[in-house]
Amino acid sequence: MKLHEHQAKEILKKFGLPVPEGRVAFTLQEAVQAGELLGEFPLVVKAQVHCGGRGKAGGVKLVKNPEELVQAVESMLGRVLKTFQCPDGKPVSRVWIERATNIEREYYLSITLDRAVSKPVLMVSAEGGMEIEEVAKEKPEAIHMLHIDPALGLMPSQARKLAFKLGLPVREFVEVALALYRAYVELDASLLEINPLVLTKEGSLVLLDAKVELDDNALLRHRDLEELEDLSQLDPLEVEAKKYSLNYIKLDGNIGCMVNGAGLAMTTMDIIKLAGGEPANFLDVGGGANVEQIANAFRILMADPKVKAVFINIFGGILRCDRLAQGLIEAAKLVEIRVPVVVRMEGTNVEEGRRLLAESGLNFVNAVDMWDGAKKAVELASQR
Ligand code: GDP
Ligand code: MN
Repeated sequence: MKLHEHQAKEILKKFGLPVPEGRVAFTLQEAVQAGELLGEFPLVVKAQVHCGGRGKAGGVKLVKNPEELVQAVESMLGRVLKTFQCPDGKPVSRVWIERATNIEREYYLSITLDRAVSKPVLMVSAEGGMEIEEVAKEKPEAIHMLHIDPALGLMPSQARKLAFKLGLPVREFVEVALALYRAYVELDASLLEINPLVLTKEGSLVLLDAKVELDDNALLRHRDLEELEDLSQLDPLEVEAKKYSLNYIKLDGNIGCMVNGAGLAMTTMDIIKLAGGEPANFLDVGGGANVEQIANAFRILMADPKVKAVFINIFGGILRCDRLAQGLIEAAKLVEIRVPVVVRMEGTNVEEGRRLLAESGLNFVNAVDMWDGAKKAVELASQR
C-alpha cells in the first residue's frame, strides 16, 4: 500500500525527521486558508498523487503570493495529472502546501529490502532529484549502498562513513539515517524513498519529497495506517479485485490471465511472453478460491477492454478443478464472454472439471498443457 507524500511527511515528522512545515488541502478554500496559516511566502504547492515525476509535469509549483497560490491550486485540484511515470494520469483530489526550501544540493536517500542478501539496504546518491533508475543505468558508481544487519540495526558508524564520503553534514545525516531506519522498521515499510533529500543553503538537511510503501502483509499491525489508503489512486479494476481478496495487478498486454498461486502466475506471464504475447494482468486467485471469487475474477478480466483472449491456467490442489469449472460456469451467466477463453487445468478432480465444462455448452478452448495453452491464447489474441 502506498501513502501520499503529505501522509508520509506527517508520519516521518513524528519520527523526528526534518520535513518542511505544511498543510494538506482538499478544496481551494482550504488551500487559501493553509496559505494564511503558513504565513510567509514563498510556498510550494504539490499535487498529491501516487506517481513520481510531478515536478516536470506541473505538479509542483513555487508560489510567491496568494494570487499565484490560487492559480497553482486551480491548475491541479480536480484534474488528472499525467507524468512520464503515469502516462494515463492520476486524479488530484488534494494538494500539499509547504514552506519553500532554499536548495543548495539535492541527494537521493532510500531504504528498502535487498532480497538478494536478505537485508535492508540504505541507498544514497549525490545525484538526487534525478530519476534513480537513470543514475543506476548511467552512473551506477554514484549510488552508495549500505546493507543493514537486521539484528544490529543501522550503526551510527556506518552512516557516518557515508556522510563523509558524500560531503554531507555528518551529525545531521547520521540522525536522519537512523530515524529513517527506525521508521522503516516500525512502519513495516517495504520502501522509504526520499528524493530529494536536500542540503539547504543554511546547511541543514530537509526531506523535500517522501515516498512510502507499506508491506500489505503487515497491515494487520497498523490499522491506523490502513485507513490512510486513497483508493482513487488505484486502477478501478484493482479496487474491485481487492474487494474479493484477489491478488490482481493490471498490466499493458492483451491476454487476460487467471491463475492460482503466485509462482504459477509468474510462470504463466513468462510463458505468454515466450510465446510472443503480452499478459494483460497478473492474477492469483489463491489456493482456496471459492466459486464466487472465481466468478468475480473472470468478470474483472473481461472488464478490461484491452483483453483480447483469456488464458486460464490452474493447477488444482486445494482449489479443485471442479470448483474452478463451477466458478467459470457461474461467471458465464453474469458476464458476456466476448473473447476466446483457453483453459488448461490439471490436478485434483480434473476429470470432473473437464466434464462440467464440456457439458456446460461454453465454447472454451482446451489446452493439453501450459505451453499449448500459451500458444493458443497468443494466437487467438493476435487474430482479433
Ligand atoms: P516529484 O517530481 O514528483 O518527485 O516531486 P518532488 O517533490 O521531488 O519535487 C520535484 C522538484 O521540485 C525537486 O527535485 C525540487 O527541485 C523542486 N522543489 C520542490 N520543492 C521545492 C522547494 O521548496 N524549493 C525549491 N527551490 N524547489 C523545490
Ligand atoms: Mn521526488
